[in-house]
Amino acid sequence: MPNLEPVIGLEVHAQLNTRTKLFCACPTSPAEEPNTYICEVCAGHPGALPRLNDKAVELATKAIVALGGQVNAYSLFSRKNYFYPDLPNGFQTSQLDPPVGSGGGLRLTLPTGTEKYIRLNRIHLEDDAGKCVHDEKRDRTLVDLNRAGTPLIEIVTEPDLSSSREAVDFLKKLRNLLVRLEVTRGRLEEGEFRCDVNISLKPQGSPTLGVRTEIKNLNSFRFVGQAIDYEIRRQTGLYESGQAVEQQTLHFDHLKAETRPLRSKEEAHDYRYFPQPDLPPVRVSPELLATVEKSLPLSLEALTSHYQSLGLKAEVMENIINHHGAPTYFEETLKIFPDPKRLGTLMTELFLPACRQAGLEPGQALLRPAHLAKLAQLLAEGQLGKRAAYEIFPDLFASGSNPETLIQAKGLALVSDSAALSDWARAVVAAHPAEVAKYQAGQKKILSFLVGQVMRQSHGAADPQKATQALEALLNPTDQPG
Ligand code: ADP
Ligand code: MG
Ligand code: ZN
Repeated sequence: MPNLEPVIGLEVHAQLNTRTKLFCACPTSPAEEPNTYICEVCAGHPGALPRLNDKAVELATKAIVALGGQVNAYSLFSRKNYFYPDLPNGFQTSQLDPPVGSGGGLRLTLPTGTEKYIRLNRIHLEDDAGKCVHDEKRDRTLVDLNRAGTPLIEIVTEPDLSSSREAVDFLKKLRNLLVRLEVTRGRLEEGEFRCDVNISLKPQGSPTLGVRTEIKNLNSFRFVGQAIDYEIRRQTGLYESGQAVEQQTLHFDHLKAETRPLRSKEEAHDYRYFPQPDLPPVRVSPELLATVEKSLPLSLEALTSHYQSLGLKAEVMENIINHHGAPTYFEETLKIFPDPKRLGTLMTELFLPACRQAGLEPGQALLRPAHLAKLAQLLAEGQLGKRAAYEIFPDLFASGSNPETLIQAKGLALVSDSAALSDWARAVVAAHPAEVAKYQAGQKKILSFLVGQVMRQSHGAADPQKATQALEALLNPTDQPG
């Protein structure tokens, strides 16, 4: 028995981030009641004419460019015919040939550190179906068409993936990219990013692909991993016992963590694709292409290496990259006060958590980049202590006021006045004779305890550096002139 090698290809569906549906003006936002966001077009009334949403074409173009694919100047919509209760037209409007995008790919870093390029076959536009909802109480299946006609892109890979881990890494990377580009909102639990997984086995090194099975509609990274591992085990078992793998469409039962046949090849669909006569070819003009190319943010690789060159720590970097709108805010702040490390820390420890809590994007926060930069500057210059900065931050974030004004109003500026500092230092020395004796016996580390006491005396207002100097002056009389 030769060693068997898994071969995996993915068909990913991402819901495009548009306000309205692909061929009508109905909203794509979640509705309170079933069948409220519907019209003649998306409910499939005979004779109703679809009209293509430009925004969907723009978003698809953005995805194709970012993934290094070729944007086809003209592409066609086709009818993909099948019967399903939640598909009122009796066909899905999809693209067969040519699709809006061809080729492209995504680079993965394998656990071994080597890179692997996962090629894309195509990216096409299509509309989503409605939903069947089972009403347990009345034992009836109901149809909700709110989702019918929602715009999707389908991204089809070549069979280049070799393990569940590679497949999951690929999906996470793809999702992050599309969310960062605002192509999709990518919420898995809402089904805004989901995929079908195709799997086969072949003898190691063989150029011929084996018979594949396809697991439909997975919307969790964990389920993708479990489904692939299960299917690899199942197919391996078949090969080992001399049985053939049947070409099948499978459903993953996540409660039992196993796959089950949905339908087999005998009843495989013949979609009878034909060009959709109600829609003209999709045109991506050179102007649109140029606008999209210009609007693309730095690639993840470029952004990461830029942040590395600024000396940011990995966790700070990840925090900023993965928070939508944070890289732009960070850049604006840096232009005003170029101290990446300090600003990176302020962003991850204070600013981004506050944004998350308030449900605001960085660009919507009242606290503008100039004022966050000012806060960093006050910290850097020692005019404000870290504790005070943390203390005023909620106010600063809520009001968007200038930190200097707020610090003065609250009397939080650090005291570096030497008379006040020596008073505090003297009181601390008098109150802690044992620690002072230890210090003078050579246990210099105890100094930080004493500095802490000065900070306490001053209720956090003392400049810690100046406090240290005042204490040293008292404790090391030889240093003191006269
Ligand atoms: P269909 O549209 O009928 O599902 P496609 O040929 O478009 O089939 O392929 C769909 C997906 O299946 C692609 O991601 C492709 O890479 C993958 N695929 C095709 N053949 C195999 C195979 N033998 N093993 C694993 N994946 C495969
Ligand atoms: Mg398929
Ligand atoms: Zn509609």
